[in-house]
Amino acid sequence: TDFWATVQQGPEDPILGVQDKFNADKDPKRVNLGVGAYRDENGKPWVLDSVLKAEDILQKKKLNKEYLPITGAADFTKLASELAYGKESKPIVEDRIAVAQSISGTGALRIATGFLSFHYTGPQVVYIPNPTWGNHIPIVEQTGMKSARYRYFDKKTVGLDFEGMKEDIEAAEPGSIILLHACAQNPTGIDPTKEQWKELSILLKQKQHLALFDMAYQGFASGDVSGDAFAVRHFVEQGHQIILCQSFAKNLGLYGERAGTFSMVCSSKEEKNRVLSQVKRVIRPLYSSPPLHGAQLVATILGTPELLELWLTEVKKMADRIIDMRSKLYDLLVKLETPGEWGHIKSQIGMFSFTGLTPEQVTALAEHAHVYMTMDGRISMAGLNDHNVQYFAESMSKAVK
Ligand code: PMP
Repeated sequence: TDFWATVQQGPEDPILGVQDKFNADKDPKRVNLGVGAYRDENGKPWVLDSVLKAEDILQKKKLNKEYLPITGAADFTKLASELAYGKESKPIVEDRIAVAQSISGTGALRIATGFLSFHYTGPQVVYIPNPTWGNHIPIVEQTGMKSARYRYFDKKTVGLDFEGMKEDIEAAEPGSIILLHACAQNPTGIDPTKEQWKELSILLKQKQHLALFDMAYQGFASGDVSGDAFAVRHFVEQGHQIILCQSFAKNLGLYGERAGTFSMVCSSKEEKNRVLSQVKRVIRPLYSSPPLHGAQLVATILGTPELLELWLTEVKKMADRIIDMRSKLYDLLVKLETPGEWGHIKSQIGMFSFTGLTPEQVTALAEHAHVYMTMDGRISMAGLNDHNVQYFAESMSKAVK
């Protein structure tokens, strides 16, 4: 019997599909601005020195390969939470954060939606910014929860539609779940200001909404890990019982190691223990327990003062190189008299820039210039460097003209 004769061809992943097209193009001028992974000044993946040093330390320890507990390595989850919330954070000091190691940020989000689908007694609707990272909707909907959108991007100003965002959050049924990008919003590169975060905190509280933070880029926005945690820390200070999904893929360059955490701020230690017992019941049937190596690397770096110091300079180096590319690209576009206003390329934050290129222009760039990006016109700034930025600016300028 052919059991699978009725299975339909699925659509290709909008982000990972760009990588396939790039791989198939053998032109030496080809430029890949699709996937959100850091590249060094020569366009190569970068394994951080802090990571290499941690590898050496781990190698010498000759650790065994036993299973981790369901919630992962305790030294890792402790250090990771301190990095996100801050060591002095009240719920950290009072030991009332339920935290589990996760399969990077994606896995953290999946634990979140799994847990919420079983235990959240408010409306099972997750409000997601429009636009957002393409994986948010399937992660929500695979657990049977509903997704809804709030306005985020203003096409006219190529900036934040803050009024629209507030209106939609205000109009959501009280107790809705509001997904917020903690910093360096993907794909727009546009974040609320500190003042706007403060307003959002008040609004969410008034409406008794639950804040679900996705923090995939701590340190990548400004180069400063504490500064980038502002929104998360402010909400927690204001008494929100936030949920946090933390990834070490970008800021430690640990993409394929899949290191991250899922955490929930609880009202007491006793509540934390109850919550954690149910978080375990979400994780166990998914993958039993998380992988060892990435967590050991992170724990070694965050827990060794010299390595921590080295890592902080490396995060800053990555953020600074991206900021430098923003300003070079902007200057070139202006110099080439590219029609339009390009200030957003400089003002946007983090790994991505939302260029405003249309799907037709994106297609033309791939076909005529061997330049690849997602159809929404998002470019990964990390894919640019001193060797290709001129070529990219000229190609982009041509596509717009
Ligand atoms: N959230 C956002 C907004 C992202 O951009 C990403 C990575 N592209 C993730 C979560 C998760 O990434 P990972 O699973 O690799 O940590």
